[in-house]
Amino acid sequence: MSLLEVRDLRITAGGVDLVRDLSFDVAAGEMLAVVGESGAGKSVTARAVVGLLPAGLRVSGRIRFDGEDLVGAAAYRKLWGRRIAFVPQDALSVLSPVHTIGDQLALAVRSVRGVGRREALARAVAALDRVGIPDAARRARAYPHEFSGGMRQRAVIAMATVNDPDLVVADEPTTALDPTVQARILDLLDSFRERAGTAVVLVTHDLPVAAARADRVLVVYAGRHVESGPAHRVLREPRAPYTAGLVASLPSPHSTSRYLPVLPGTPGSPGPGCAFAPRCPAVVDTCALREPESVEWRDGHRVSCHRLADLPPRTADLFEGITA
Ligand code: SF4
Repeated sequence: MSLLEVRDLRITAGGVDLVRDLSFDVAAGEMLAVVGESGAGKSVTARAVVGLLPAGLRVSGRIRFDGEDLVGAAAYRKLWGRRIAFVPQDALSVLSPVHTIGDQLALAVRSVRGVGRREALARAVAALDRVGIPDAARRARAYPHEFSGGMRQRAVIAMATVNDPDLVVADEPTTALDPTVQARILDLLDSFRERAGTAVVLVTHDLPVAAARADRVLVVYAGRHVESGPAHRVLREPRAPYTAGLVASLPSPHSTSRYLPVLPGTPGSPGPGCAFAPRCPAVVDTCALREPESVEWRDGHRVSCHRLADLPPRTADLFEGITA
């Protein structure tokens, strides 16, 4: 049973579709990675899910959380910080520079639980400790500028999870952090899934992270569904040329070439057919005329490509590089 159901999500800006007909589900305790190149509509999708779209964008379709349709700010207000939390890419955008980290977390606790200041602060310190901030009681008295980038991001995760939400939506939470800190933050998200059954939607452009951490992946291009399903299937046996191109552009330990293959071209304005057609090595006439529908290939692995049935199988291993 899905905790989050998104159906036919459409997001437009000035009459242009940023996201079109996107549907996906996330179950309790599951991590869904939303992957694709920059500008593919990942972040705007994440923000739509948590009801934090910038002004000027229009959203339609259905977002259902724990059996309830989320429509309008009032529906989200009941859930923000309590059952649904958002971790943005840039920690500084959510931390106030003029309040201590501890006060900010304590305020998040009090606004949801209505407890006294002392208890809220104790919970704030416990949350900082849980995300691995050393000497949390002392550090709670520090201001955001006194934290390193990795510590700030951990503080934001502490803030997002201090009230044990059921769903965390994290938009590139480890971008610009060094690999060790990245791994710790991803470990943290895993620990919340295991400890509290928290569902996670992880927006990332990092396919190896998606392969290593996510239960399922959703590959998007120009705001459209490309391929989705269990991570081990989609990323080891990609069926869509776009996913295959993304996987092939990763470094392989078996390659003898000095150069990485790259996906040719850049995303442009989609025409009436498949959005990837101008860049696709497998394009045929139909592709430019009709948008492909999402079709189940097998066992929950869905693909949007007119040539799903006739393209040869490919296999790839993100950890071993391309194996066949
Ligand atoms: S529908 Fe056509 S253009 Fe689009 S990915 Fe498939 S083969 Fe390529």
